Amino acid sequence: MPLNIKKSDFVKSASKPSQYPPTSHPEFFFAGKSNSGKSSMLNAICNRKKLAITSKTPGRTQLINFFLINDCISFVDIPGYGYANTSKKISAAWNDMILNYLASERNIVSMFMAVDIRRGIEELDKKMINLTSSYNININIIITKSDKVSKVKRIEAKREIENELTNFKNVKNIHIFSSKSKEGIKDILEIIEKFSL
Ligand code: GDP
Repeated sequence: MPLNIKKSDFVKSASKPSQYPPTSHPEFFFAGKSNSGKSSMLNAICNRKKLAITSKTPGRTQLINFFLINDCISFVDIPGYGYANTSKKISAAWNDMILNYLASERNIVSMFMAVDIRRGIEELDKKMINLTSSYNININIIITKSDKVSKVKRIEAKREIENELTNFKNVKNIHIFSSKSKEGIKDILEIIEKFSL
């Protein structure tokens, strides 16, 4: 059964663990390259227009955002990676922030990674998959913006990504999704329901 999200609340933004809201709820985090459609995905699955703020300004202070879903599940939006012209200082700060998050003693059960259907898996995505795998966290790949390509291209893109990720054992699901057409929302909500039991 897909999860029915009746309530979604923004809890807090944080840059370091001492600022995280304490919770023992099962936690799902959302990652992806900047512009991959990650925020739109979060908004679509929560059926909210502006819960996750779409990040248009590269280089601005980036924070981890915590949300409470149905009072019993935690969603976490981590800053997008791979902005063009990112300075070394900003990439280092991003790395520290994510490593601290993954190493924190939270009940992280699964990652959703947004991958733009027209771009496919890129080097930084693989780095993120490796990093998350090293913490033994399950990974779901969400191929976003499916409405931008034909049905045939969707199937091809999925097959290509499946082939590319066969050796990444933590990758458990690969789904095609569009926040515009809503294709694949049910698949995501089913995964959350399954993992949060
Ligand atoms: P983020 O930077 O990864 O959070 O990406 P956003 O959610 O802000 O989306 C980046 C851009 O892609 C925006 O212009 C969105 O309107 C667009 N976008 C996101 N999801 C979809 C989708 O499913 N279909 C289409 N056509 N555009 C999308």
